Amino acid sequence: MRKLSDEEIELMRKAGSIVGDTLTLMRDTVRVGITTKELDDIAREFIISQGATPSFLNYDGFPASICTSVNSVVVHGIPNNYALQEGDIIGIDVGVCYKGYHGDAARTFIIGEASAKVKKLVEETKRCFYKGIEGLKPGDRIGKISNAVQENALKHNYGIVKELVGHGVGRRLHEDPNIPNYGSKESGPVIMENCTLAVEPMINLGTSHIRLLNDGWTVVTADGKPSAHYENTILVTKDGVEILTLMKGENTL
Ligand code: MG
Repeated sequence: MRKLSDEEIELMRKAGSIVGDTLTLMRDTVRVGITTKELDDIAREFIISQGATPSFLNYDGFPASICTSVNSVVVHGIPNNYALQEGDIIGIDVGVCYKGYHGDAARTFIIGEASAKVKKLVEETKRCFYKGIEGLKPGDRIGKISNAVQENALKHNYGIVKELVGHGVGRRLHEDPNIPNYGSKESGPVIMENCTLAVEPMINLGTSHIRLLNDGWTVVTADGKPSAHYENTILVTKDGVEILTLMKGENTL
């Protein structure tokens, strides 16, 4: 974690706005019948048109520009020829690098109509994020985020993914500190003024346990039940939290 200069903050805002605009485009493009590969192509072309590059492409060998995680896929799904179906949920994770600075965010979109319990999972995962950043200020510990996410998830008996965590973000896509989605308020490092963090609850309808598929990337729930993901890059200033990666017209909680 590092205090960013004013110039760096401006670059992070720009990177974040390209992420938000890419997610907006994804929100407006997902529909029954479109393949996750088509979404990847559309996202990549858009990111490049904005003067940025997709952070995930070739990251540790990841073969695509976005992650597309359908239903029981928790995160890191690889775009392929799967065509979205009515009632699916798809987590889309977008990272972009603009002039050396990364923004990172994810949304879970519902294709058509999902069951009430799946809709609620998606809503409550978003709420976990907002509970996590509520009242956050420099001097708080990272555990304040972790604990608030955990409290909201456990209220609904959801499984909290523990093996994957949020992270610092800036000059690199993944920086210190780790931001777990569980733990005590007093845990973790103290948050510095003007630092940027990626806060990302990954919440399962059933068990918290996960499994890695043979492709070495795709993380799925151990019980095959759905999982939701909601992530933003945030800037913590003395005035509070600024969310850098919102979609156009998106409701905040
Ligand atoms: Mg992330």
